[in-house]
Amino acid sequence: MELGDFYDDRKFCPTCEGYVPYLISMEHSYCVACGDIVRLFSDEDWTHFNESLKQRRPKGGRPRKDKESA
Ligand SMILES: [Zn+2]
Repeated sequence: MELGDFYDDRKFCPTCEGYVPYLISMEHSYCVACGDIVRLFSDEDWTHFNESLKQRRPKGGRPRKDKESA
């Protein structure tokens, strides 16, 4: 049954330039198509992921800081 996220059984292969089924090894996961090490996100999605984390403000009235990054 596949009820989870899209990312549940796919990772990003930089060689195939897409999300692919993968094999799990001891430390890494490998693309089933080309055997390259796959990652959880593409660079682009990783950036989006981090951005969305930054935008999530902590609850509890913490003062907002002006921060200039990028
Ligand atoms: Zn691949």
